[in-house]
Amino acid sequence: MTPGFTGLTVAQICEAIDTLNPCMDDFVYVYDLVNDFYYISKLAVERFCLPSNQFHNVIENHAKFVYPADLPMLQQDLEELTAGKKQFHDLLYRWISVDNDPIWINCRGFVVRHENTPLYMLGCINEIGARQKADNVSGLLGVTSLKNSFLAEHADLPNGYLLRLGLDDFKEINEKLGCDYGDLILKRTAECITACLLPNQKLFRAVADEYLIVNFSKRTTEDAIEQYKHIRQTIDSFVKENNYEVIYTISGGILKSEQFSACSFSDAMKFSEFSLNEAKRHGKNCCYIFCREDYDKFLRRRRLSQLLRRAVTHNFEGFEAYLQPLINTDSNTIYGAESLLRFCTEEFGMVAPAEFIPLLEETGLIIPVGKWMLNEALKICQNIQRVIPDFKISINVSYVQVVKSNILTDILNAVEYYHIPPSTVIIELTESGLLVLDNRITKLWARLKEKGIYLALDDFGTGYSNFHYLNDLKPDIIKIDRTFTIKAVTNDYEFKLLSLMSNMAHSLNLQICVEGVENTNELSRMKEVLPDYYQGYYFGKPCPFPEFQDKFIK
Ligand code: C2E
Ligand code: CA
Ligand code: CA
Repeated sequence: MTPGFTGLTVAQICEAIDTLNPCMDDFVYVYDLVNDFYYISKLAVERFCLPSNQFHNVIENHAKFVYPADLPMLQQDLEELTAGKKQFHDLLYRWISVDNDPIWINCRGFVVRHENTPLYMLGCINEIGARQKADNVSGLLGVTSLKNSFLAEHADLPNGYLLRLGLDDFKEINEKLGCDYGDLILKRTAECITACLLPNQKLFRAVADEYLIVNFSKRTTEDAIEQYKHIRQTIDSFVKENNYEVIYTISGGILKSEQFSACSFSDAMKFSEFSLNEAKRHGKNCCYIFCREDYDKFLRRRRLSQLLRRAVTHNFEGFEAYLQPLINTDSNTIYGAESLLRFCTEEFGMVAPAEFIPLLEETGLIIPVGKWMLNEALKICQNIQRVIPDFKISINVSYVQVVKSNILTDILNAVEYYHIPPSTVIIELTESGLLVLDNRITKLWARLKEKGIYLALDDFGTGYSNFHYLNDLKPDIIKIDRTFTIKAVTNDYEFKLLSLMSNMAHSLNLQICVEGVENTNELSRMKEVLPDYYQGYYFGKPCPFPEFQDKFIK
């Protein structure tokens, strides 16, 4: 083997690398430029998807474990080194881990030459991402230490627990008081938690503003709750002693040992993160005990969101517009139809709108889907109007569409595109959405009215039912929700309330649509309320367009 100016041969360096291997977290390597040979600490094979810790055809083999997007940059640098154009190698780029994740590394090395001929490059690779062993801000051990400790002592956790603690609204502290102050709070909080530790417990800093207590001895969930409460009190006292300079709370997520004893470290971390998130979702300043059922629901919601997004990017495959008839009460003829969105996948079958519409709203996907639905509904309406020219089509619009998209333009464009008379289009907005009555809603409402489009106030009777809306907004139609309908059928007081409301609406020249009429009993009772329209299973369930056409148009 070629000796360098260090006097060491490549073979001797390889031996030294093996010797250092157990003493380091970093990866020492040598790249023999003469023989196109690479040798790295054996530890690297456990972390990255390397073919082996030694190989020839160095540049070619790097393609197997370097993140593809970073490969050209690396190849160019290595070519310059082998050509003797540069002496130092210092690159930030990504290798692929054994779990197939891109991991950021900093690879540095220097080229040893002999009489100007490059012989080999000797260097070291450091992981620069989150391989945190300790954290100097909180003064605690970090997540890598937690992992090591967890793996080593996993078996000793027969009746223990993991308690993950997270500051509530920590971002606000940073924003209002600055990051240095935020760091101080993290340190003080770590001290408060440390003061509450019991024998046989270890505290780690998990991520940013989260801490994890690992309890190794026999303690129950009740003990975990007690401990959480104790920590909360300690923090309250700290806030008070600090003269209320900053007021903050802490949430906790508890995981019992039997819930993670059989699972991997990364699963245990996922469950524990979920538990803390649930505590925060339940209003913060409280704790939550991991429940597999809740977690499965969460996974279902997440999977469903993925499928919804996939459907949107695949030409709305799986979505369908259903129609439900609206019936004229005086003539018992068809007035129009409400368009109702449906979503069906192989994995879940038909999913209820009550489940997927909120997900569309949370993810913002309601914007593209709502626009698609608008076009589908108007396309169908164009079709029906060839037979029934004044057929009305009713379209649900979500509050998210009003606030975050240009829904007015979308509606006006679609109405024009399909040549639909504006007076045959009804836009439904829910009463609950209107509670946050801001000027975007009132503006949209006014512009639609100006254009002659009809407006319906949906879900009436489920929220506050603020009668002022009726005067402020003057909707053309008020849709009485089925919950109100059922109550009115069975309860005299509710029935009188509904009758009064109907009277009042009529005196204001507004029309009433009673929803959810399922049988003759409900129908005869509702007749007395004198509504203008009915909608309900009694007249027809929502169905696809061809079926609707067969039943109600032909
Ligand atoms: P909604 O706007 O109040 O729609 C009426 C709901 O009542 C529909 O439920 C309909 O199937 C149901 N319904 C009608 N008659 C009866 C009846 O006699 N008995 C019973 N038990 N139910 C009846 P669906 O289709 O499950 O939709 C639920 C909600 O999802 C809708 O309530 C609406 O808020 C939302 N939604 C549906 N499609 C869309 C859409 O395209 N966009 C938006 N933003 N929301 C939609
Ligand atoms: Ca509706
Ligand atoms: Ca409704």
